[in-house]
Amino acid sequence: MAEPVYRRVVIKLSGEYLAGAQPFGIDQPTIDRVAGDLIKARELGVEIAVVIGGGNIFRGVEVSNRGVSRPTGDTMGMLATMMNCLALDAALERKGQPARTLSAFVMPEISELFTRSAAYKYLSEGRIVLLGGGTGNPFFTTDTTAVLRAGEIGAQAVLKATNVDGVYSADPKKDPTAKRFERLTHSQALEGGYKVMDATAFALARETGVPIIVFSIAEPGSISAILNGTGRGTIVAG
Ligand code: UDP
Repeated sequence: MAEPVYRRVVIKLSGEYLAGAQPFGIDQPTIDRVAGDLIKARELGVEIAVVIGGGNIFRGVEVSNRGVSRPTGDTMGMLATMMNCLALDAALERKGQPARTLSAFVMPEISELFTRSAAYKYLSEGRIVLLGGGTGNPFFTTDTTAVLRAGEIGAQAVLKATNVDGVYSADPKKDPTAKRFERLTHSQALEGGYKVMDATAFALARETGVPIIVFSIAEPGSISAILNGTGRGTIVAG
């Protein structure tokens, strides 16, 4: 079997995907399937940290449109990511895969605080490490969190698991002429203003030099395929 392309990665999972066909919340079959995919990827010998979004429960901007202040709405969004972590942690452990959730917030009854040393320790033990609570700051996203944490823990890439199989020039679900890119530089991704990831995340990745691979999680086994270098996705690097 070919050696995996990376030894340590941060995988970014969209919260929205965890809702499955439902408009809101956590779809158990979907989270179980994602857990199975993560375990297969771990079995390749790759150290895996996962950053999960919260869009299936709360998004700060949407909450603040209903009259709550943006920082409070964002805090609700960050807490939503913790709920997703707890659900995925449980799904992994149920399948026999040791996991550990680390939070950006102090919440000792629920999870240990994220520190680099804790992340290194659990990764080296072979656990899948789930990073909840975003960056711990309002006005950021979990895409930015994934890039930030990748830099902090020395991950070789961010694998952005989403609903589409790469970066497109326009939304491929709305525009049939949208062009899919095989490869982009960080600057091209930033200047193109592509909606798949926010500009702060691309800018930080350019700063830290971490490659981002955008690929579809809808395809079972896609995480392992990307790690083996055979998957379909857009590489943003250089
Ligand atoms: N969020 C935040 N700071 C962070 C990360 C996330 O305030 O560092 C909040 C923000 O309100 C965001 C929500 O958490 O809308 C959920 O995260 P995100 O939108 O990135 O989730 P996804 O779209 O991936 O499901």
